[in-house]
Amino acid sequence: MELQDLKVCILSSYGSAPSNLTNKLESLGVRDTEVFINYSELVKFLSTYEGTCLLFDLLGNENLRFNIDLDYFVSQATPFRLAQALRWDSNNEIRPIVEIDSDFRIISEEVSPENEVIDGLIRLPLYFFDSKEFLRHISSEGIDFKDENWIGLPLAFPRKELSYSNKTPALFLDRDGVINIDKGYVYKYEEIIYIEEIFPIIKMFNDKKWPVFVLTNQSGIGQGKYQEADVHKLHTKMIEDFTKKDIKIEEWQYSPYHFDKGIREYKRLSFTRKPGSGMALKILEDYPIDIERSFMIGDKKTDQILLPGITTLLIKGNYDIEGSNSLVFNSIGEIHNYLEEQIKN
Ligand SMILES: [Mg+2]
Repeated sequence: MELQDLKVCILSSYGSAPSNLTNKLESLGVRDTEVFINYSELVKFLSTYEGTCLLFDLLGNENLRFNIDLDYFVSQATPFRLAQALRWDSNNEIRPIVEIDSDFRIISEEVSPENEVIDGLIRLPLYFFDSKEFLRHISSEGIDFKDENWIGLPLAFPRKELSYSNKTPALFLDRDGVINIDKGYVYKYEEIIYIEEIFPIIKMFNDKKWPVFVLTNQSGIGQGKYQEADVHKLHTKMIEDFTKKDIKIEEWQYSPYHFDKGIREYKRLSFTRKPGSGMALKILEDYPIDIERSFMIGDKKTDQILLPGITTLLIKGNYDIEGSNSLVFNSIGEIHNYLEEQIKN
């Protein structure tokens, strides 16, 4: 389904949509837009309308700027009858946090106890739905979320307007087992043995001017095995090596949290910890990336991050990846060949 084929509904108590939103929709070729001043009016309309809609609910959110990749949201929501946009928020006081399963089904929405959550997904008042299905979930009072049919799609919510017409693919890399041999809780430079086959893959993306990022779970920090400073020191050394090899990684993101084994301020629920996609969403706040043409390379099931539409490539290594729903390879060399083919097209 394409954005241009949708009926776009806007709920606004002013009876008109803010100009930044109308301009954006116009620039994306959206023609069929209608504004409703309250839920009752929308219900009235939907009861006689049959089709797929996109809804911006600005009631109480009049100042919200939708700096998001709308084409991407629509494309990822298309297989579902009832989908909502979610965004990652780093504010640990946000409530409630939405939890999703590996199929993006919303499984719970909890007001977590104080100090349990450090960051997480929250609802954005943007919906994609089949009108018949949505009618069962909306009344003059508002929208009802108590249903297992709701799908929640995590989206980047950039701090400033990004030009998605120029978006490019990107490569996301796990660190241990992909860039260097995984010896378990590696944090000293002396322990780093590079997996050389990864370098030409990074180079291939560099040559295309497509960004490359590292996303690494570092719960060793949270468990008190080493410090954040150790990771910074190690990554600085690794970046020096990469520079000498004339290859470039835009950002190195790590997540220090672990809810079960973590101690002190690191014993927190964080969507940055993979398979959460918080680290990727943080990056996507700054880069206009075509996620549907992007790749994540990892060696664990948890590297299948919850980012709709990304292609995950897993290498058989130290971990059980049996039954994963990703493409599985015997070596990084095989991944190189695969990516070369993909990128050609
Ligand atoms: Mg790994």
